[in-house]
Amino acid sequence: MPMSRDPFDDVPLAALFPQLTSADLEAMRVVADAVDAARAKEDVPQWEWAPGPALRPGPQPGVVVVLMADVIVHADGGDQLEFWVQVFWTDQGQLAVNAAVNVACWCETDHATHDIDELTRVVDEETSLAQAFEAGSERLIGWLVDPHDADYWRNRAALPPRRTL
Ligand SMILES: [Zn+2]
Repeated sequence: MPMSRDPFDDVPLAALFPQLTSADLEAMRVVADAVDAARAKEDVPQWEWAPGPALRPGPQPGVVVVLMADVIVHADGGDQLEFWVQVFWTDQGQLAVNAAVNVACWCETDHATHDIDELTRVVDEETSLAQAFEAGSERLIGWLVDPHDADYWRNRAALPPRRTL
């Protein structure tokens, strides 16, 4: 099913995550507002969400994304720098939150893109969805405040820099 794109206030959070308390929902709204405030002025702050409720899927080969803020900082001439935070179901059927830096690949072997500096929190008895979402969102905010460029992130991950032809 295609994802919807809306401002966070229009995402039906309580319908997506019926297990959350009103305090959890409020905590997620506060941190999502902080993410939106950290975005560049020209970036229309939208969130992608899968019309829900976010029911645990059956076993599947990949992940199922439920809610996502995807910030493309830079994309041109085959290069790309992108940051995101997402709530998703793992292939094991666990609800989790992931934040990552995604850069275009300039390896000899083309991998298309690479995820760098990932933070992943699985929701369990010790970590609520709101806590996991806060952790991932705070990581994303840190990147947005100081995004660097794609070569900086490739260098950090010991990946080759962009080739100039
Ligand atoms: Zn590569």
